[in-house]
Amino acid sequence: MAVTVDKTAPAGKGHNAFAMAQAQFDGVAEYLGLDAATRELLRNPLREYHFGIPIRMDDGSMKVFRGFRVQHNDARGPGKGGIRFHPQETVDTVRALSMWMTWKCAVVDIPLGGSKGGVVCDPHNLSAREQEQVCRGWVRQISHDVGPLLDVPAPDVMTTPQHMLWMLDEFEHIHRGHFPGFITGKPVGMGGSLGRTEATGFGVVFTIREALKEMGLRPDATAASVQGFGNVAQYAIRLYEQLGGKVLCVSSWDQADQTSYSFRKATGVNLDALLSITDRFGGIDKAKAKTMGYEVLDGEAWLAQEVDILIPAALENQIRGDNVERIHSKVKLIAEGANGPTTPEADAVIKKRGIFDIPDFLANAGGVTCSYFEQVQSNMNYYWERDEVLGRLDVKMTAAYLAVSELARKRGLYMRDAAYVIAINRVVEACKQRGWI
Ligand code: NAD
Repeated sequence: MAVTVDKTAPAGKGHNAFAMAQAQFDGVAEYLGLDAATRELLRNPLREYHFGIPIRMDDGSMKVFRGFRVQHNDARGPGKGGIRFHPQETVDTVRALSMWMTWKCAVVDIPLGGSKGGVVCDPHNLSAREQEQVCRGWVRQISHDVGPLLDVPAPDVMTTPQHMLWMLDEFEHIHRGHFPGFITGKPVGMGGSLGRTEATGFGVVFTIREALKEMGLRPDATAASVQGFGNVAQYAIRLYEQLGGKVLCVSSWDQADQTSYSFRKATGVNLDALLSITDRFGGIDKAKAKTMGYEVLDGEAWLAQEVDILIPAALENQIRGDNVERIHSKVKLIAEGANGPTTPEADAVIKKRGIFDIPDFLANAGGVTCSYFEQVQSNMNYYWERDEVLGRLDVKMTAAYLAVSELARKRGLYMRDAAYVIAINRVVEACKQRGWI
């Protein structure tokens, strides 16, 4: 399936994520032979809301923040997707992310659609009171078009469980009642789910475990290198090590130097020791790492390690045309913990080299799956034990992985293409059954 970016798609700032999401969809639509009406329906969001959020600032002045909610498709169930606070937020990014949420929910077969929201703001420059007003203002503008049965928001870039709780409180004031299923990512004890913190990283490793089985490799005979040392990376490393695997290298962003570094130990990194010298943003202290015997290497060195598995778990656009050749010939498997870590150029090289790639919207779907569990628990007002949450997560992730890998094998497809085929087919089927197309 060839991915070519549609030049007629709306232009955003720099790299246009929506054009990319549409191009990916178009490639699969062509492969599936979808008719024109189906393509028209699915390559665009069903609904979008753009609004202003007027806030009285601490200094007494008024400021209006731009807010969005984009509902790409809800044929399979209520929309699901985070709300980002970001100074460079654009509606095209939100559109792309809402479309990717549709495919992510469909590939893990949870009964939810795809949505995403955002506010153009930088929480670093807002007091706690101003942030609370932005959260409450966002809900006031959209309170009748979101809800437990319509569209369920969650945290995302620069939004936190506290933000979710303010949003829930505002929603409950407006609708007069308790509706904890309106939003996920709430603090544990206030409607949040146990296991959510671990869910994405653990989910990545559930898919790695299944892939290794298919490759005839034992986890305890493998080594991995990880980009990033935040939430996803830390829990992926924890579970991978429990399976017997050894992590030789991790990397992180250094705020003071405004660059990233890789940290390598030939005998394997020590997760707990590294955690003790890591700040809350996932930044590793390089001076302390040196005293612990780590080699401190350039930011891309994680990619060049002689390991079996690479886990990009930091950011988008990290494996690109200009660095993909640094991947060591020993690497057999890439599990994309981050969203969009591989550019289409690099993806073509990885495909050609025969490296097995578990695509982002499958590998990191543990987060949204656990958010779905949170929504279910919230709607029942009955909360499960951590082991029950993680056990159910394993079942869902494993089933999703196996369905994709079976299709990939049967039709000779690349895993990313197979995942898209399954997800898009499920959404098309739901739209057809509803009589939308
Ligand atoms: P995080 O903020 O907890 O951690 C990010 C880590 O990446 C930090 O260690 C940071 O130092 C590092 N980093 C940043 N820039 C870097 C660079 N240029 N080179 C090397 N390291 C760098 O974030 P997270 O929640 O772990 O998310 C990581 C990725 O996974 C993101 O793409 C996110 O969208 C995706 N994701 C997260 C979840 C989730 O539940 N947390 C779910 C799905 C997808």
